[in-house]
Amino acid sequence: LISLKNISKSFSNNKKINVLKKINYSFTKGKIYSLVGPSGSGKSTLLNVLSLIDKPTTGSLIINKTPVNFNENAKNDKIRSSKIGIIYQQNNLLPDFTALENVYLAGLALTNDKKNSIERAKEIIKTMGLSSREAHFPSELSGGEMQRIAMARALINEPEIILADEPTGSLDHTTAKEVFNVLYKLKNKNRLIIYATHNRFFANMADCKLEMIDGNIKAINARIK
Ligand code: ATP
Ligand code: MG
Repeated sequence: LISLKNISKSFSNNKKINVLKKINYSFTKGKIYSLVGPSGSGKSTLLNVLSLIDKPTTGSLIINKTPVNFNENAKNDKIRSSKIGIIYQQNNLLPDFTALENVYLAGLALTNDKKNSIERAKEIIKTMGLSSREAHFPSELSGGEMQRIAMARALINEPEIILADEPTGSLDHTTAKEVFNVLYKLKNKNRLIIYATHNRFFANMADCKLEMIDGNIKAINARIK
């Protein structure tokens, strides 16, 4: 589903650093991958390339057999909003919009049918167990609730690819588990899920644990049959 071919990413401010060094890897649909590694090892950088936010310095990214052209911004925005769901540590909900509005506005990326988008938003919020919080503003939600609404927003367009960068970094273990349970349920729907985490417990729950080592990824503890 997603292949990385010789993907490198360097940043050059005053000193050039090579964060990703010729990564070759293929991710498979229907699997969950965790991405671990020390702070600064390049997990977020890799997720930003996978989510078409950052352009790699070299190499190619192939989604469903089609190489991504990182210069076609408008086209990539479209791919991102229709095929890729992104969840961040800070949930980035729009503060002046309710939970329901945050979710259904994302749904409008696929359709101009507002009524349909609201229906889909309500449905997915229901699966998160948060129907009673639809009218709440982000400031009126708990951390775990905000993160589940952010997840609903990321999932409303049924993306094939779900990328999460420390999605539960700011939550207690019980709440984090709830959030991960929602993610794990999606696996059965043949999605590809990749998340970065510093939490060993959640890292080990993936089908395949990938470690960033010296700018590359190494599969450890693979449970993929
Ligand atoms: P953490 O676990 O702390 O989130 P990480 O593995 O996600 O770390 P990255 O955020 O990918 O690490 O950063 C990898 C390296 O790239 C770091 O050394 C960072 O300083 C550098 N870096 C990231 N973004 C930029 C940027 N926009 N400009 C320059 N350097 C950057
Ligand atoms: Mg990071």
